[in-house]
Amino acid sequence: MIEVTLLGTGSPIPDPNRAGPSTLVRAAGQVFLIDCGRGVLQRAAAVGVGAAGLSALLLTHLHSDHIADLGDVIITNWVTNFAPDPQPLHIIGPPGTREVVEATLKAFGHDIGYRIAHHADLNAPPPVEVHEHTEGPVWDRDGVTIRVAPTDHRPVAPTIGFRIEADGASLVLAGDTVPCASLDELASGAGGLVHTVIRKDILGHVPQQRVKDVCDYHSSVQEAAATAQRAGVGTLIMTHYVPPLGPGQEDQWRALAAAEFSGQIELGDDLHRVEIAAR
Ligand SMILES: [Zn+2]
Ligand SMILES: [Zn+2]
Repeated sequence: MIEVTLLGTGSPIPDPNRAGPSTLVRAAGQVFLIDCGRGVLQRAAAVGVGAAGLSALLLTHLHSDHIADLGDVIITNWVTNFAPDPQPLHIIGPPGTREVVEATLKAFGHDIGYRIAHHADLNAPPPVEVHEHTEGPVWDRDGVTIRVAPTDHRPVAPTIGFRIEADGASLVLAGDTVPCASLDELASGAGGLVHTVIRKDILGHVPQQRVKDVCDYHSSVQEAAATAQRAGVGTLIMTHYVPPLGPGQEDQWRALAAAEFSGQIELGDDLHRVEIAAR
């Protein structure tokens, strides 16, 4: 069984009730954070997960809403880890991730210096290990394997999706992408697919061109559902609702997906939890 918790179902627009894009995956005793939007660690705390308990941070791409709290994850992972010889935080993302992590460490350089000066048992900067990938296997330990494949969020490039397998169960996290063959292949036969969605039928009618632009590099609800259908996925888990999913609108969004996808459809608020069984 793989357990999925939508930590943040929001978007770049701050929302009082939705944290930024982030998903927690627990599999075979390991804990993965996929993207780290604003408020991610507050939401993780609500389900008993602390930064020091992460097995790895997986980044689908380097858009600000998906990495807004990267500094918080790195620094909090460091200062709340009381192991005598702390393991590095593994960060797996597309090329560019190393540069972003190094710049983040630099941005927090004063903080890191203060803490090393103050605490006798902190004598090195946060231990971080960055792995940049666009395709292929990226993780294989203690019963969990992860592979990545390119997605299509151009002009944001490269971007990647993740497929996590454990205990015979499989879960794919698409991130932001338009439908593409490599995502279809990555998601093929998966028990679950976490996909970001936007409402093109709504955004296409707002007056601001900058908002309209959002449509050309994301999947609509219907497109995400069609991807799930083509790939033969068991459960589609929609997140990153643009515009925000309002109270009482769940059935409308669900109906749009159900027109394209015959499997189980999940959506909801932050902390919505889904279990993906072996299949
Ligand atoms: Zn994006
Ligand atoms: Zn996004």
